[in-house]
Amino acid sequence: MFCPECKSEYKEEVAVCADCGVSLVSALPEEVTPEEVKWVKLYELSSQLYAEMAKEALDNADIMSYFKADFFTSAYGVKGGTVLGSRATLYVPEPDMERARALLTDMVDHD
Ligand SMILES: [Zn+2]
Repeated sequence: MFCPECKSEYKEEVAVCADCGVSLVSALPEEVTPEEVKWVKLYELSSQLYAEMAKEALDNADIMSYFKADFFTSAYGVKGGTVLGSRATLYVPEPDMERARALLTDMVDHD
């Protein structure tokens, strides 16, 4: 038996968690929390504007994503890559990486 609160395991004859006072369950439900998603770097984009376009395309395909602008871009709040060296790194969950890459292959310039 398992406690749904503290995830402790108990013997079969125990019905209530000694620590939490809640009813035990025979199996814990499979939980997938966002924290368990493994994020991988998909692209380094030459501007935050590209990153926003890419994120929108991924959103439309139901692929989670986020991007991180580099220090100069975010520190000065400048968008559109007008600052020298500004760029953004796009991250997607590892299982979606192939799909995301295929989706964005036409949009992103390859060096
Ligand atoms: Zn407990």
